[in-house]
Amino acid sequence: MRSVAEHQKIVSELFGPPETVRVAVADALGMATVDDAVAAFAMPAFDNSAMDGYAVRADDIAGASAAEPVRLPVVDDIPAGRTGLVTLAPGTTARIMTGAPLPDGADAVVPVELTDGDFSVDHVPDSTVGFSSGVEAGKHIRREGSDIARGDVALPAGTVLGAAQIGLLSALGLADVAVARRLRVVVLSTGSELVEPGKPLQHGQIYESNGAMLTAALTEAGALARHVHFVPDDVADFLERLDEASADADLIITSGGVSAGAYEVVKEALDAGPVEFVKVAMQPGMPQGCGHHLDPAGRRVPIITLPGNPVSSLVSFEVFIRPPLRAAMGLSPDRPRVAATLGSDIRSPEGKRQFMRGVVDESLLPGVDGRLVVEPIGPPGSHHLRYLAGANALIDIPATTTALPAGSVVNVVVL
Ligand code: AMP
Ligand code: MG
Repeated sequence: MRSVAEHQKIVSELFGPPETVRVAVADALGMATVDDAVAAFAMPAFDNSAMDGYAVRADDIAGASAAEPVRLPVVDDIPAGRTGLVTLAPGTTARIMTGAPLPDGADAVVPVELTDGDFSVDHVPDSTVGFSSGVEAGKHIRREGSDIARGDVALPAGTVLGAAQIGLLSALGLADVAVARRLRVVVLSTGSELVEPGKPLQHGQIYESNGAMLTAALTEAGALARHVHFVPDDVADFLERLDEASADADLIITSGGVSAGAYEVVKEALDAGPVEFVKVAMQPGMPQGCGHHLDPAGRRVPIITLPGNPVSSLVSFEVFIRPPLRAAMGLSPDRPRVAATLGSDIRSPEGKRQFMRGVVDESLLPGVDGRLVVEPIGPPGSHHLRYLAGANALIDIPATTTALPAGSVVNVVVL
């Protein structure tokens, strides 16, 4: 049997380095940038007010007090968005709003609350305003370049774009951005027993769940996933669907039809070609396969054939596909791993690396010994989708381990 690490390496070799595409900044959520984003101008681009208030020359209101306020004529009104240069003459003030450009000559802003001005909606603007205190020069001004200087690297290459990063790129005036391309992945489920959810079920049939599950896992991993509904266990039918699916795919993932039974459609259809079927020393997920499919245009499309048992399918995806898939899109390959304390005794099959479903405190708070506690859940059977759905961690038990008592320290992948 092949070890998990060996099979991981072979699967990862199916993936190439990230490819670059330009996409609209607004569509780039979750994608990794390829270049440094350099600020073409300073931010802020001009000195502007940090407050709703009055722009002044600080000297003009020096010494103002509640007992002896200084009154200045209000000669202008500067809302945000005012373009063109405004100059403030000595001995005057201008109403100014947050984000509005500071007039030339002004060196401070006094918030309206510290004046007798009234900004209420139906109030007619005052012709003069009284200041009951002085102001330090430079106060309440956002200086040009105080956030980013022109030419600064605002976001380094390789940044995964979240909401704030998309905001920053937009603020820099960028409409599109070069990012690592999302891979297009097609999921092809096989099994004559499978029925599309929502349709009536006969005795002996089950609802098809791997297609939607793997598509969701792929989407969460950052890929563009699509699901071709199941094909029956018929080699000709399968190959026809595979050819159709490969036309616009960077990767094909099949589910089912790779184990040791009869009617193993994927194995039968591909065994003679450039796909290798192997047993991997793990539980769940022993039967695996990977290689290439030659599409009708003669293009070599990577293909990974997962076992059909739902738990095996998703665990195999986590162990073999998710890390290199993400790396090929410039994203961090690995989920967080932590050392955790086992909450109960466990047993594990000899010679197989086991990925047990487990539950850790969602807040990731440590237990008594300062470590996170992980509680194994559900029996080992690969059909127990319910326990997979209840798990938020995989407990990674080495192939050489056959039993561990509660309290042992184990390696846990936090999902
Ligand atoms: P197979 O790998 O095709 O031998 O399937 C192993 C087990 O997984 C069988 O019990 C199948 O019915 C089940 N199975 C296979 N494919 C799916 C699927 N797409 N959705 C739900 N269960 C499946
Ligand atoms: Mg099957």
